[in-house]
Amino acid sequence: TDRQPLLRADDLTMTFGGITAVKDFSFHIEPGEIVGLIGPNGAGKTTCFNMLTGFYAPSNGRVRFKGQDITNRKPHAIARLGLVRSFQKTNVMKRLTVFENVLTGHYMASRQSLLATFFPGEAVRRAEREARESAAAIVETMGLAQRMNAPAHLLSCGELRLLEVAVALAAKPSLLMLDEPAAGLNSHEAGTFGAVLKTLIGRSIDALLIVEHNMDLVMSVSDRIVVLNFGRKLAEGRPAEIIENRQVAEAYLGKA
Ligand code: ATP
Repeated sequence: TDRQPLLRADDLTMTFGGITAVKDFSFHIEPGEIVGLIGPNGAGKTTCFNMLTGFYAPSNGRVRFKGQDITNRKPHAIARLGLVRSFQKTNVMKRLTVFENVLTGHYMASRQSLLATFFPGEAVRRAEREARESAAAIVETMGLAQRMNAPAHLLSCGELRLLEVAVALAAKPSLLMLDEPAAGLNSHEAGTFGAVLKTLIGRSIDALLIVEHNMDLVMSVSDRIVVLNFGRKLAEGRPAEIIENRQVAEAYLGKA
């Protein structure tokens, strides 16, 4: 069959002046998949995120999402198509509650809120109600129901990382891309976090791409791992294959 992947990147290349951050990088994501993108510091992972989501115009290569060529489209247009990414910087506002943060994420991603302010008609009131129901459902999906009305500054580190994902989910992604979402979590918190991520596939999102330095987490949640080293694809395979891969081990030890 000619079923096409959800996302497909071909020959992505990014040069900054004389520095080649990513070179001829091709990969794809199928619906239903969790793909882990790993590699040593400076390997080009964040640069890839930026090319896939319109923050950088690639020096060469193409990106296709849901069969459409999205290379060189604007970030907001790509997000509206359903390719939503997180940043290493937090998207949580500490003084707002968990629920308010997710609702705000919804408003940031939609254009209905301004309308609601100026034209509070019946259709707008219904949209408002639906936004609140959707935000509450996302909070529950992320396992934060008991913290719904807690101000974000009172959350534990583990709860805060879950809330960051919840805010991203409020934009209604088809493909969610998370950049180091488990930073600072201990192994117990990371375990909880990974378990919640897995429940999202097929329910809240179609697929997940995760950049993560916590190897236990990325190996346990991913169906497939793609390894970048010096801007090039070094290896690709199931977690068990990547763990066994000698070149990958050497890259992490700085001997590649
Ligand atoms: P980390 O795991 O540390 O976040 P990374 O794999 O995300 O690293 P990138 O941040 O993509 O790696 O960086 C890849 C290379 O490109 C590095 O050598 C970096 O210095 C360089 N680079 C990234 N962004 C820019 C930029 N805007 N201008 C110049 N060089 C850049």
